[in-house]
Amino acid sequence: MGREARAMRIGFLGLGRMGTAIALNLLRAGHEVAVWNRSPDKADALAAAGAEVAATPRAAAEGREIVFSMLSDDAALHAVLRRADGLLAGLGEGALHVSLSTIGVATADHAVDLHVERGQHYISAPVFGRPDAAAAAQLTIVAAGPAADIDRAQPLLDAIGRRTFRVGTRPSAANLVKLSGNFLILAAIEAMAEAMALAEKSGVAPALLLEVLTDTHFNAPVYRNYGALLLEQRFRPAAFAAPLGLKDMKLAGAAAEAARVPMPFLALLREQLVETLVKEGEDVDWSAIGLTVARNAGLNR
Ligand code: NAP
Repeated sequence: MGREARAMRIGFLGLGRMGTAIALNLLRAGHEVAVWNRSPDKADALAAAGAEVAATPRAAAEGREIVFSMLSDDAALHAVLRRADGLLAGLGEGALHVSLSTIGVATADHAVDLHVERGQHYISAPVFGRPDAAAAAQLTIVAAGPAADIDRAQPLLDAIGRRTFRVGTRPSAANLVKLSGNFLILAAIEAMAEAMALAEKSGVAPALLLEVLTDTHFNAPVYRNYGALLLEQRFRPAAFAAPLGLKDMKLAGAAAEAARVPMPFLALLREQLVETLVKEGEDVDWSAIGLTVARNAGLNR
């Protein structure tokens, strides 16, 4: 733990692929962590590492100064907040909820109201980076909310990520940035998959195409990392499951609709994900839209 950081009593709700890795890093940083997950067996690894396992979100939040949530979607957050033994019932006055999940803009705005009317604090801090980046405490965190609340959470955010960007005082601004980012990532995957299919059918090795492009104009992690996944056709097990990707395209679409911004690319990406889910099943990574692109080009996969 850094010189400035003090051990805090915190709660953590949601121990999926991302939540488990993040909560482990908070424990390793020396904090006292109470964890809760809907399916209790997923708390075993955390318990073994020294976490206290709570029976309800309320129990994980009571007496804690900061509580994190990392849940799949808006409905999950809603359920965890509102149930009788939920987070809103357990979080003390003045305590802070840091919402790491990728949720919609309107849901984040509503979450602010729910907390403020109870004297509780709320910030959105969605993350970029897959479970391997979470495990390595290398997430990129996009935070928004009152500066004093982000300051309170900053030592904990430092323990789970490489950098925290602050994008505004209204929490949902962070969700908007995160959704925009995921739209851009999926657009890059689709564009790469199309170019790679074109190369392969034309007798050029897709690996060579990628080497040329990622060493020149497209020298960015998103092209290098997802390019490798497409090349190796590593779509299972999912690191970021396709249904969650579809959820994000829907949430980006809702934000675009509310702001009256036509996003025709977004509609196309949504269709590609739906087709991929129909053909490949629910358990593939979102980058499996590359499989759909390849098959539609008549390539043998
Ligand atoms: P995941 O492995 O599917 O985990 C989802 C978590 O949400 C689990 O703890 C699950 O509990 C819980 N949950 C779902 N519905 C619930 C409900 N109704 N009530 C209570 N808990 C519920 O997903 P993940 O990959 O960790 O993703 C979590 C969030 O991070 C999502 O918003 C995702 O978009 C975002 N994200 C993911 C990645 C990535 O690469 N995976 C990267 C950045 C951001 P159970 O165990 O009981 O099912």
